[in-house]
Amino acid sequence: MATFIVLLGPPGVGKGTQAKRLAKQTGLAHVSSGDLFRKHIKDKTDLGVLAKSYISKGELVPDDLTIAMVKERITCPDCETGAILDGFPRTPVQAEATTAMLGELGEELTLVPYIIAPEKVLIERLSGRWTCRASGHIFHTKFNPPAKEGICDVDGSELYQRDDDKPETVKKRIQVYLKQTSPLVEHYREEGLLIEVRGDQEIEEVTKDLLDALKK
Ligand code: AMP
Repeated sequence: MATFIVLLGPPGVGKGTQAKRLAKQTGLAHVSSGDLFRKHIKDKTDLGVLAKSYISKGELVPDDLTIAMVKERITCPDCETGAILDGFPRTPVQAEATTAMLGELGEELTLVPYIIAPEKVLIERLSGRWTCRASGHIFHTKFNPPAKEGICDVDGSELYQRDDDKPETVKKRIQVYLKQTSPLVEHYREEGLLIEVRGDQEIEEVTKDLLDALKK
């Protein structure tokens, strides 16, 4: 049986940072729907052009497009032993599709860590976030600064601020999360898969709590 984990939580809570750290420590693939969309935007594909019109407004990309993109990704060979899903599912329809697509592979969800932090922390995190152009490594001016300003510690590429990390868009993304994604919390709680992890701790502490939850 493979290990499939959904990292649930609001924008800015640290899902991307933690997913990368967990992937490194567990050997599981990191599947980030946001990173997949950003790659499409960078490559100027049809999906990228369409996705950009939603992402720049802080809205969700339609379910059918998102589900098809993630489905293709999780059937890649590196997901055979499992994956950490970061930013997907984000709606009840996507949650149903996740169960169905894993079912087709003869698999099911292992655990849904729900990372939580107060809204004030989320806004502060998003507004100071810098992302690496080459591979999406994440830094923060205050909480996790790169050794050299504007340069990724991992691969030396340029760091940039995401358009959707602007204050107006951040507020919209949090509203969208509350309305469309937060119902998944109760859904996964009822399924007995949810485990709450505090996101307003040091990065290493959050990773430790997640790894402890996985071991159990
Ligand atoms: P993220 O990097 O996870 O914060 O995602 C950035 C943006 O990509 C989101 O604000 C959405 O516009 C879009 N996006 C990412 N994942 C999804 C998803 N599962 N469903 C719909 N839109 C998504």
